[in-house]
Amino acid sequence: MRRYSAFAIAREAMRHHLGWERAWKSPAPKSRYDVIIVGAGGHGLATAYYLGKNHGIRNVAVIEKGWLGGGNTGRNTTIIRSNYLQDPSAAIYEKARSLYETLSQDLNYNVMFSPRGVMMLAQTEHEIRGYQRTAHANALQGVTTEFISRARVKELCPIINIDGPRYPVLGALWQPRGGTARHDAVAWGYARACSDMGMDIIQQTEVTGVKREGGRVVGVETTKGDIDCDKLGIVVAGHSGVMAERAGFRLPIESVALQALVSEPIKPIMDVVVMANTVHGYMSQSDKGEMVIGGGADNYNNYTQRGSFQHVEETVRALIETFPIISRLKMLRWWGGIVDMTGDRSPIISKTPVDGVFVNCGWGTGGFKAIPGSGWAMAELMAKGHSPLADAFSLGRFREGRFIDESVAAGVAH
Ligand SMILES: Cc1cc2nc3c(=O)[nH]c(=O)nc-3n(C[C@H](O)[C@H](O)[C@H](O)COP(=O)(O)OP(=O)(O)OC[C@H]3O[C@@H](n4cnc5c(N)ncnc54)[C@H](O)[C@@H]3O)c2cc1C
Repeated sequence: MRRYSAFAIAREAMRHHLGWERAWKSPAPKSRYDVIIVGAGGHGLATAYYLGKNHGIRNVAVIEKGWLGGGNTGRNTTIIRSNYLQDPSAAIYEKARSLYETLSQDLNYNVMFSPRGVMMLAQTEHEIRGYQRTAHANALQGVTTEFISRARVKELCPIINIDGPRYPVLGALWQPRGGTARHDAVAWGYARACSDMGMDIIQQTEVTGVKREGGRVVGVETTKGDIDCDKLGIVVAGHSGVMAERAGFRLPIESVALQALVSEPIKPIMDVVVMANTVHGYMSQSDKGEMVIGGGADNYNNYTQRGSFQHVEETVRALIETFPIISRLKMLRWWGGIVDMTGDRSPIISKTPVDGVFVNCGWGTGGFKAIPGSGWAMAELMAKGHSPLADAFSLGRFREGRFIDESVAAGVAH
């Protein structure tokens, strides 16, 4: 595949853009692959990419029931940070964040990583103590964060009302190299690189069953027929419970809808990402000028990929008290995605009771930021049977009580 470059853009501009190749192929499925990945979201595609790049495994198919990146990967608010409390979390999220730094160059695809800084507002004494504790933990983990004063908050983001009517801003946890990236570009960049390595990305094809012989996977049933494989990776986020049942085991996962909305585009008003977890709302400004706003998760399990009125009301109320400047802004779109929540709000990257079947899920409300690190770890686990980044996130932790409690860092925010 030809590399993208400034020279290529100039060349194509001269010839009416007729020379661009398709970014990825759409092949018919083969009868057998070494590895099949179910789910062409960011995590599935990144797993395939690092299987090829790091482990030389290229006879791989990624099977997607809809279109690639059309699940949560294309529905999220794109916050990237690694300021988690527990060591295994900080390790995998920081690995991911550091891979994001050079992802555009690695994939030869502009994923628009923008390390503009992420601040998590402390609006109660309890939050101050929690975030100071996280800043100390991050210092030990080698993750650069600091607890900043309310004056510094105002300096970094002048549109914040730090005297808020219910909860004044008392300080914030600040990660200067956190930020955002373009969500679908991440999926498209990985897809293009996978296709370039000879992998098959098969869209509009649902995996409806898992074929097993003597406790081991031998293939999958799909809406386009049966396909054999040696190893199977299930990377389907909100549908993890459904796919696990098809493979013959159960997962400690609940699926709920999480919502977001976006405003009309306006001139630049903020150049950092702000999360206000006490009132619950968070906001950043996209490169197009839209205000990207994150809401909450539904309080009941469901599979509806859409928004609901009570969340819009709650989220907008929280944001207006934090940023009064946006009170007259018109909202453009509002949507939902099905997120997969574990009890300890940490992911699962694990072998399963079925030999040859691996699962990567449970990223809940915050897995976009983890895509490169998760793919790296999952690929290593599938290729070698073990990954230092993934070990703590095995299914065994639920049986053995080794929970990685990130309910504060991951349960309410993103
Ligand atoms: C509104 C919202 C805001 C969010 N904000 C953030 C944020 O700011 N920062 C952050 O880090 N994270 C955020 N997240 C979470 C993040 O989006 C997810 O954790 C992440 O995208 C999960 O990626 P994935 O590849 O695992 O899943 P997905 O992108 O959902 O991909 C799974 C794919 O599997 C496919 N699939 C399912 N079943 C089958 C089947 N049987 N056969 C074939 N294919 C199948 C689906 O169609 C889907 O495309 C947010 C999520 C939402 C919904």
